[in-house]
Amino acid sequence: MTVDLDALVANWRALDAASSPETETGAVIKANGYGLGVQPVARALARAGVRRFFVAVAEEGAAVREAVGPNVEINVFSGHMRGDTDMIGDLNLIPMLNSVDQMLRHVEALPGHPLGIQLDTGMNRLGMEPEEWMAVRETALDLSPNLIMSHLACADEPDHPMNIRQLRQFKAMTSGLGGVPLSLAATGGILLGPEYHFDVTRPGVGLFGGLPFADAEPVVRLDLPVIQIRELEAGETVGYGNTWTAPDRTVIATVAAGYADGIHRLMGPRTSLYAGDTPCPVRGRISMDLIGVDITHLTEEPQGLTLLGPQQTVDVIAENAQTIGYEVLTSLGGRMSRRYKGA
Ligand SMILES: *Cc1c(COP(=O)(O)O)cnc(C)c1O
Repeated sequence: MTVDLDALVANWRALDAASSPETETGAVIKANGYGLGVQPVARALARAGVRRFFVAVAEEGAAVREAVGPNVEINVFSGHMRGDTDMIGDLNLIPMLNSVDQMLRHVEALPGHPLGIQLDTGMNRLGMEPEEWMAVRETALDLSPNLIMSHLACADEPDHPMNIRQLRQFKAMTSGLGGVPLSLAATGGILLGPEYHFDVTRPGVGLFGGLPFADAEPVVRLDLPVIQIRELEAGETVGYGNTWTAPDRTVIATVAAGYADGIHRLMGPRTSLYAGDTPCPVRGRISMDLIGVDITHLTEEPQGLTLLGPQQTVDVIAENAQTIGYEVLTSLGGRMSRRYKGA
């Protein structure tokens, strides 16, 4: 796997440019930087000027702190969980508190320590609901939250009526708060337009080259080494279950990757790997560690074949596997070696 840190930085700059001029553009690098390796990703973004990172859980925040040092804010979406107090305190993480229980836990365990607040504007996933929030609003404001945020459920569908409903709810819940910075938009929300930007945006997937940021530069390249090449007669089969039978003489390359590397079995029948610009279809079932690929039409034996790159984005293979780019990215590469380019 090759991770193009220059493309990552270019995507952050593009989303920063798409955000309103007075808006700060953060970066969401949860799930090991969407599967690409959180520390090199965090360092490249910090060098490019990112001052506010977001992660899902405190352990991820610890890895980011180790990578980038003390001068950036690290916000934790899961808030202040039982058992996280030392990590939050020692590493100066900022929990995005999502309930009154968490608020109490935080002020008792770490009085004076910075905090943020997460509001639920209709997604019913994380954050304080309107009634709960109205009841503790004044107390919460006395704690000087460094950010108040909510999250959009349907931002990848610009015409979805949920977007405007959540925007109105967020405005109602945060009206009259004075100068507390507000945040509503992830990648999709940035693309919805300036009304959604508020003070801080939180792009994730767009940084890594995924939809809904259609203009993103590809960040991940996946070149799979060819282990063996063989010729089949008409009528021979490839892989488990004999699901593919050669109609004619066929040349099959066996490449070293499989579903244990996050290459979902479901994508097999619809997916090609590439020799340069030439597509080479997958034949037979994807196994745990191996994939059979049809290279009958190539004039030279390839050393490797490309699954992800300029020829084919994460969203193309996600579609082939009936999933989304996010899942493809975060599934890739438990055992793959990663090479970082640029930045
Ligand atoms: C994952 C996440 C983001 C980033 O979303 P993308 O769609 O990847 O840009 C932002 N905010 C919250 C709360 C998230 O969970």
